[in-house]
Amino acid sequence: MSSASQKQIPLSLPYLDGREQELVVEVLGSGRLSLGPTGTRFEQMLAERVGARFAAAVSSGTGGLHLLVKSAGISPGDEVITTPFSFAASTNCFLYEGAVPVFADIDATTWNIDLEALEAAITPKTRAIVAVDIFGYPCELDPIRKIADEHGLALIDDACEALGAEYKGKPVGGHGVPAVFAFYPNKQMTTGEGGIVVTDSEQEWRLIKSLSNQGRGDDGPWLEHVRLGYNYRLDDLSAALGIGQLEKLDRILELRTQVAERYRTLLEGVGGVELPASDDAEHRRSWFVFVVKLAPEIDRERVIEFLTREKISSSRYLPCIHLQPYMRERFGFAEGLCPRAEDLSRRTVALPFYTALEAEDQERVVATLVAAIEAQA
Ligand SMILES: *Cc1c(COP(=O)(O)O)cnc(C)c1O
Repeated sequence: MSSASQKQIPLSLPYLDGREQELVVEVLGSGRLSLGPTGTRFEQMLAERVGARFAAAVSSGTGGLHLLVKSAGISPGDEVITTPFSFAASTNCFLYEGAVPVFADIDATTWNIDLEALEAAITPKTRAIVAVDIFGYPCELDPIRKIADEHGLALIDDACEALGAEYKGKPVGGHGVPAVFAFYPNKQMTTGEGGIVVTDSEQEWRLIKSLSNQGRGDDGPWLEHVRLGYNYRLDDLSAALGIGQLEKLDRILELRTQVAERYRTLLEGVGGVELPASDDAEHRRSWFVFVVKLAPEIDRERVIEFLTREKISSSRYLPCIHLQPYMRERFGFAEGLCPRAEDLSRRTVALPFYTALEAEDQERVVATLVAAIEAQA
């Protein structure tokens, strides 16, 4: 089956054309490479797109999450409840402030945080919840917000994988809960590195702008710092790239939906392969990755080896955060803490997924996956 002429199918690829080049070159020519009008325009466009009042562009999604943690006043010893089935940054963002992670298990269908587990994890020390819209599927924002309000907890939405998703008919990021989107090149849209914080609170937005810009005040002198801040600024070249991507975001999301639908059709009826949750009246996914769950009797590692030999990239999305070496070492977490997340995490495979992925490549991916599973029968 394997042949030398076969091309490698990558896991992800950004979707760019001449428009991004034009916009980036324009900024280069303007000489305003940072803190210029392009950054402000990007923020306004993104805020408008998701229906938030304010947006603050930052140098990464992780940086944006960290600033929301600062803004929530989370401090050493506070407990923060989050999901173990996510990218490490959704926990790291509060470890930076000395807070203690409390992992609540996931819902077996949506793969997002489970509401009962979340409520059960609350203690007198709980200070905040970091919810995640994993793989672009919106989390249960309203009930989560209700729990947060009842217990006086801060709520942060790690929407880094969910730009374009909708919860109850409204874009994620537009529900009045502070949220972060990320723009690393494997996300729906990219700025190279970068991220953005959205909030409806002007006060919070001002604080985040200041913290991301070395703690400078609103209109004080350049070398006056009113608080301890960071350099989490997004430069204007990256913002220009972001504007080019935002201009075509509808098309990007539409194409990604088509790619996902093609996978669904191709994989329908393939034994041992469970597909990601479908949309329903309240949840509309923005496709970030295409992750399938293999039946327990299938050896995932052998499937991945098979795909690799056939030049098809794949990935183990995602390892549980609480089982990462540094987390085990520091907090003593072990297997059994979140059984549903751990089971899922052992069985999932991310298949190649990107905006311009072609139908024939998808057919090759699925045929190879089927062959990999049959080879184990
Ligand atoms: C991508 C991502 C982030 C942020 O990543 P950066 O590389 O810092 O931009 C945070 N949380 C989740 C769930 C992500 O997927």
